[in-house]
Amino acid sequence: MNIVDLRRDTITLPTPAMVDAAFKATLGDSVYGEDPNQVHLEKIAAEILGKEASIFVPSGTMGNLVALLTHTNQGDELICEENAHIRLSETGGGAMVGGLMFRGIEDHSGVPDVSAVESAIRADDIHYPRTSLICTEITHYRYGGIIPPLEKIEALYSFAQKKGIPVHCDGARLFNAAVALNKEVGDLTCYADSVMVSLSKGLGAPIGSILAGSCGFIERAKRYRKMLGGGMRQTGWLAVCGIISLQKENIQLLREDHQNANYLAQGISHLPGIKIDFNQIQTNFILVDISGTKISGKLFIEKLKEKGVLVTLAKPKLIRMVTSRVVNKQNIDYAIETIGKVL
Ligand SMILES: *Cc1c(COP(=O)(O)O)cnc(C)c1O
Repeated sequence: MNIVDLRRDTITLPTPAMVDAAFKATLGDSVYGEDPNQVHLEKIAAEILGKEASIFVPSGTMGNLVALLTHTNQGDELICEENAHIRLSETGGGAMVGGLMFRGIEDHSGVPDVSAVESAIRADDIHYPRTSLICTEITHYRYGGIIPPLEKIEALYSFAQKKGIPVHCDGARLFNAAVALNKEVGDLTCYADSVMVSLSKGLGAPIGSILAGSCGFIERAKRYRKMLGGGMRQTGWLAVCGIISLQKENIQLLREDHQNANYLAQGISHLPGIKIDFNQIQTNFILVDISGTKISGKLFIEKLKEKGVLVTLAKPKLIRMVTSRVVNKQNIDYAIETIGKVL
């Protein structure tokens, strides 16, 4: 059976060029800075992201946690959007490992207003924790891969700078945002002191993320990466895949994922009972509200699965579909046809 997997963009497999390069990679002990490919990856990633330095980490979760630990002290509070990945989907690592409190501010644009952040910042009072970090998320996962308005991100960053509070950007899909906006990724990273980007999602590398920031920040971050088990020794096999994933042409392939997401949304939006908010479809995610149909979300995804179309239940009547390079336009045509039949 033909499987059309629209569950996640983490299912992408390394390209033949990546596999080939991995087998030929020269290796060294990365903990001592002796893996030439990791050294090179960290150098080019910093350049692309417009930061002084970067480190390669095994996952986005570790990259974010290393950033939190580097920016804060135990007992501090950080401010993020209520439904931020860092708050909901990273097993509370910031609380458990960093001793941090998370202050969530709900905002469906994906980033809180400056005024809301301003009133959430703790006064200098012995009763309160210190607010020592603000986190943004681009693209915003829970709200369907949306790009929070750049004016708001910019305003929040200049406010944070005035307050002397650093900003960390969870940019797991920052390249999707840059491609969708026709901007350089540096046009987005300039509104954060540190940024995490995933190489293992839409960009197709098998494993790994990058954390970037100033030289001083990255020097301190290396200690936490080691503490959390991110000293991976002979990383060259992975690092070469990361290097290829950051090539311009590879990044531009995300554009096709976005076009496919739009095409899929157009193809099913007219089906009875289906509701799609086209403002939300900005990158490679589609949220499909099926509350106007008689079918339950659970049964809907089961029936689709029987026919080889894999999607995710985001909420009881909300379906998430994610495009990536493992699905092409023909696959999308099949998905559209199948969704119609199941309904
Ligand atoms: C996937 C993701 C992460 C975590 O990355 P992993 O490599 O899965 O640990 C962090 N933030 C967002 C927004 C993500 O989508």
